[in-house]
Amino acid sequence: MVNNREKVYIVRCGEVALKGQNKPYFERMLVQRIKKVLKDIEGITAERVDGLIFVRTPLDTPQEEILKRVGRVFGVDSISPATEIDITGLTAEDALAEVGAQAVEIMLGFIESRGIKTFKVEARRADKNFPVESPQIARKIGAYVLKGCKVLKVDVHEPQALLFVNIRRNFAYIYEQKILAFGGLPLGTNGKGLVLLSGGIDSPVASFLMAHRGMVLEAVHYHSYPYTSERAWEKVKELAGILTLYTGRLRIHSINLLPIQEQIVQNCPEDETTILVRRFMMKIAERIAKDNGCMMLITGENLGQVASQTAEALVVTDASVSLPVMRPLIAMDKTQIMDIAREIGTFETSIQPYEDCCTVFLPKHPVTKPRLEKILESESRLDCEALIEAAVASEEISIIYPSED
Ligand code: ATP
Ligand code: MG
Repeated sequence: MVNNREKVYIVRCGEVALKGQNKPYFERMLVQRIKKVLKDIEGITAERVDGLIFVRTPLDTPQEEILKRVGRVFGVDSISPATEIDITGLTAEDALAEVGAQAVEIMLGFIESRGIKTFKVEARRADKNFPVESPQIARKIGAYVLKGCKVLKVDVHEPQALLFVNIRRNFAYIYEQKILAFGGLPLGTNGKGLVLLSGGIDSPVASFLMAHRGMVLEAVHYHSYPYTSERAWEKVKELAGILTLYTGRLRIHSINLLPIQEQIVQNCPEDETTILVRRFMMKIAERIAKDNGCMMLITGENLGQVASQTAEALVVTDASVSLPVMRPLIAMDKTQIMDIAREIGTFETSIQPYEDCCTVFLPKHPVTKPRLEKILESESRLDCEALIEAAVASEEISIIYPSED
């Protein structure tokens, strides 16, 4: 009997399925996350059955909404809207007749809506007790379709409609599409990190990539108000808003770096301004990370992209903190980074031209091969501890919630 009471979606979890003993834990986290992104939709259920997750919704829930939201849950490999057929207690022959009849219905729909002329059926028998083997299931269902839809022919190479049949315990499923999602690991399965979030292209992509591996994020943003504008801050919040669609709610610590920048400009060599500011950014971030249970720092740095990201500069920046610094973009090309930014929807916002605190007091000729001893010597002219303390004390915290678009 066909399930006409609700819509059914099959959700596949790729890498999660490989996790051996931890598999139930990862699957549980994934189900939890799926429920969370759908929680405002009434009558939704999500449960795992033998390695797959089944999402069920009322009939009037728009399919695009489910595909879009579940498609952004890390750990989900692909999703298929499916027809569910209850075959409990049926003989194999009767079960296949039921599935065949449904396959005909579906194909008649495709003929009408898309004018298809060719098709192919692929079958899987997840229930090994079912007495008919997969290739034979495919052949039988194919035969039902040929009989029920006279205009159709089989094309095993380039079918206009490819129908999948999956026979499981008590239920059979038919679906056409496998909509690919991002894969990765469910949020919350890999600790928490603090991302240094600017308004640029790179750091939102770095955030996405770390969250994609299951890491929960918190963010710190530096500004130089009034040199940087309120609008620049709005842009960062807008970027964070897009990120929350993947990461869930984001806490942003926002910190005015101007007092520190002024001290640096007054007391240190001009060509070292950038690297000195970057070291302060890291140190403040480290303090915030430790106060908020973050195990590592994350930046959008990329080898050689700008003066502050030469190998030498990265070494000197790195030496400012003891927490591990993750730089997921380190070896990517700009075009690759931009492609990801476009895919996740941050690109258009990132390229809006607003000033960043890094561009305030930009030296004319920044040192590209800084030496740590020299930088430490310059820093010794500042009361670093007090400056960091004051910066952290003046932080403002904003919480950004996922805004379903
Ligand atoms: P992005 O595109 O992420 O701004 P970028 O190419 O402009 O990076 P930089 O400005 O040198 O490069 O910054 C390198 C990294 O330092 C950024 O990816 C980000 O992680 C961090 N960062 C830079 N500016 C800020 C800021 N205002 N607030 C927080 N973090 C920042
Ligand atoms: Mg930047």
